[in-house]
Amino acid sequence: MMTESSTPPIEPEITAALLQRYDRPGPRYTSYPPANVWRSDFQETPLREALERASASTGPLSLYVHIPFCETRCAYCGCNVIVSRKPGVEDKYLDYVEKELDILAGYVGHRPLAQLHWGGGTPTFLAPQQIERMFEAIRSRFAFVDGAEIALETDPRVTTDEQLELLRRLGFNRVSMGVQDFDPAVQEAIGRYQTEEQTRRSLERCRRMGFQGVNVDLIYGLPAQSVEKWDRTLAVINELRPDRLAVYSYAHLPAKLHHQRRIDENALPSQDTKLALLVLTRKRLIEGGYRAIGMDHFALPDDELTRAMDNRRLRRNFMGYAVMPGDGMIAAGVSSISDIGGVYAQNTKKLSTYYEALDAGRLPIHAGHVLTDDDQVRRWVIHEVMCNFAVDYAEFEGKWGRSFPEYFTVEQADLQALAEDGFIRQDGERLIVLPVGRVFVRNIAMVFDACLRRRAGELTYSRTV
Ligand code: SF4
Repeated sequence: MMTESSTPPIEPEITAALLQRYDRPGPRYTSYPPANVWRSDFQETPLREALERASASTGPLSLYVHIPFCETRCAYCGCNVIVSRKPGVEDKYLDYVEKELDILAGYVGHRPLAQLHWGGGTPTFLAPQQIERMFEAIRSRFAFVDGAEIALETDPRVTTDEQLELLRRLGFNRVSMGVQDFDPAVQEAIGRYQTEEQTRRSLERCRRMGFQGVNVDLIYGLPAQSVEKWDRTLAVINELRPDRLAVYSYAHLPAKLHHQRRIDENALPSQDTKLALLVLTRKRLIEGGYRAIGMDHFALPDDELTRAMDNRRLRRNFMGYAVMPGDGMIAAGVSSISDIGGVYAQNTKKLSTYYEALDAGRLPIHAGHVLTDDDQVRRWVIHEVMCNFAVDYAEFEGKWGRSFPEYFTVEQADLQALAEDGFIRQDGERLIVLPVGRVFVRNIAMVFDACLRRRAGELTYSRTV
């Protein structure tokens, strides 16, 4: 079903001047409200209450498991990572993830999983027997729906054929691999050495073993990147042809992420170069046959993600765009985030406090937010804008009992400005994100963000470009 709000098969020409005008700090909207407005003294009670409410449903869920370990720390990394070579550290960690899964399954173990994702860190830091143990720990507590998306992040530098074969045998069907940039000077500047050969081999192996989907992550805005060299990386990517790509903007936040101080700031590309890298990325990937999904995701035309976008089935959660998420997400492991029953709850980031809480029989929560009615309304609208590129006013009214133009009176002036730039159109029945606006969906979503409006200038975000 193609609707006016689904992607037309044209891609707009995005100029550096337009990008420059809209390049401002803003959330990525994997959640609304964004994590930096959540309470940092959140306790487990609201999450337990949300889980209790969620236990009344039998519908499918998503489960995220965080494996924080990495062999070394890449200089650009923004993830919660533990570099450790202590023997036994992973087994002890898995003991505690199991304790956490026990608590979660006590509430929602009867609900099947539509989506399972292992992120990190490097999940394949685990030895084969640990991978098997972790998977069995999940499978013994939760069933899977038919066709569930079972995915993990892999690092081609450390993932062995034995691990991939095991993962495939266990039922994993999607792999997401970090690449960032093939250029050796960039790899030197970020402390991550991964040859083209390693990536190529890993990708081919995954395909041969029958993984249905292979995602590749790239980052633009890294030190030592130039337009010419990035063009070569994109040419290799077009040749390797992964099913999906996420192309993120590098966020340099050395005051918060101390390891990023290893990056030579003089080697970072200028903002103009960064914009040129983004323009080139879209141009080359679209020439290569990819469809753009929002600003930073790309997928082949026959990929499920593209089909979901065309059929208004695209969803977004902490794992980015998804086709088949459950109704709510539970999460296990340090720093992982649950989003269930109107509550966001993030686990502590430190192993010691994670273990301490679980030893005491508590869920190891350290930050979170209970969504207000207004949060729920805005979250829904932001989700529609980011995923379906349209908001249907009758649907809004049916769901929230209020008229869209009345609810968003304050926002009308900003929406008008976006309409003048050709990003959106409002026709009395719908707000439609036009092709050029799809590149700027974060900027459009920002109009509906009441936290940003209330606390302009106080909140720190990476730039939208
Ligand atoms: S491998 Fe990934 S998670 Fe680990 S340090 Fe590098 S970027 Fe971070």
